[in-house]
Amino acid sequence: KVNIFWFRRDLRLDDNVGFYKALHGKHPVLPLFIFDENILGELPEDDARVTFIFDELQKMRNQLQEHGSSLAMYHGTPKKVFENIISEFEVQNVITNHDYEPYAKDRDAEISALLEKKDVGFFTYKDQVIFEKDEIVKNDGDPYVVYTPYMKKWKATFSEDKHVKIYYTSQVLDNLVQHSLLPNVSLSDMGFKRSKIEVPDYDVTPTTIQEYEKTRNFPAQEGTSRLGPHLRFGTVSVRKMVKKAIAKKNETFWEELIWREFFMQILWHFPKTVDNAFRKKYDHVPWRNAKADFEKWKEGKTGYPLVDAGMRQLNQSGYMHNRVRMLVASFLCKHLLIDWRWGEAYFAEKLLDYELSSNVGNWQWAAGSGVDAAPYFRIFNPTTQIEKFDKHHSYIKEWVPEFDTDDYPEKMVDHKEARERALETYKKAIN
Ligand code: FAD
Repeated sequence: KVNIFWFRRDLRLDDNVGFYKALHGKHPVLPLFIFDENILGELPEDDARVTFIFDELQKMRNQLQEHGSSLAMYHGTPKKVFENIISEFEVQNVITNHDYEPYAKDRDAEISALLEKKDVGFFTYKDQVIFEKDEIVKNDGDPYVVYTPYMKKWKATFSEDKHVKIYYTSQVLDNLVQHSLLPNVSLSDMGFKRSKIEVPDYDVTPTTIQEYEKTRNFPAQEGTSRLGPHLRFGTVSVRKMVKKAIAKKNETFWEELIWREFFMQILWHFPKTVDNAFRKKYDHVPWRNAKADFEKWKEGKTGYPLVDAGMRQLNQSGYMHNRVRMLVASFLCKHLLIDWRWGEAYFAEKLLDYELSSNVGNWQWAAGSGVDAAPYFRIFNPTTQIEKFDKHHSYIKEWVPEFDTDDYPEKMVDHKEARERALETYKKAIN
């Protein structure tokens, strides 16, 4: 008999709660990854995240082979894959880590029902966050919808001894199915090709954390951790990162990690916010949704240099600095009166660190429609933002080489007029 450990958004062998629990079970563990057709079917053939996942899995497969085992990799729908595996192996339990997204919740319900019929157990663990679901709620049991009290309760509940314990697996890696020929798939088998965009390593040295407050707001500096994709795909453990933040006593960096969990619990409690405004009346905003305007924004040809630099950074590298994300999102929703869902979808396609909960949460923040959102009348001024955050135009020049030439486009809208139009439109819609 075997126990299956199903890797999903936790692509690492060490300090992985579910994998650790599986390795401590009675039966040898068969490590599994499924390239889920339901997700992959919607992605472009050179999607950079698929390349990243694929490369990380090959590394894990090599490490597992050093222990006489391997990683079984399949491409298909989880339902079909599990039907096949349970007919091929004698499976006692399937073990995996929690995933809080609506699709993943449905998928787990489907798989657990299928397994139950075959008398196979399905066990799941918390791994990708410190606190999940209902662990941080108000005293009356309601979820927090404002960040600061959530963060305070999070910190008050947190104990270093209890919540950032490391789940070392190196001692138990021999409890694996000894079988080095488990199925593999290649990118081309799945209709994908290697992307030119690579996910950079993360940078969480004591200095980065210590300097974080001073550097994090300036897009020309490499002042942030670049942890996004690593937390998203689990190539790093969140417990280790929180431990580092605490060791350096950097509250700001720590609080960013709490923002991530804040939006995850929002998505868990309010799954409808994926495509509905959290504050319902904001769904009455009559978006202009001008397609030609949207194209200019996407291409970084709005005539507002910081907006354009951000969009070009996104298009070329799969990353955009947080400061600039806030600006381009505000510009799309307010200056252009384009539905935040359009922007959210474009970011989802391009961002290496795309995370449904954070992306929706932050887009709704920018549109004014979300939990703890910026008030609708807060409209970023795309010119003064340059003075504040890219005074020497270093970031702009890096991404918009024609910035100082006649080739640079005219402003697509006048700031003052667009601002007034946005104020008027929003005011009418929500009152
Ligand atoms: P750091 O500044 O080093 O922060 C460390 C980590 O804290 C991040 O990796 C992230 O996990 C978390 N974090 C930081 N800020 C936020 C935040 N505002 N909300 C949630 N978590 C945060 N972040 C994503 O991870 N995925 C997204 O899809 C995403 N979409 C966004 C869309 C918009 C419109 C905006 C304004 C922000 C978005 N963010 C998103 C938040 C933030 O911009 C990125 O997390 C950050 O820029 C990633 O760079 P970093 O890893 O160097 O971050």
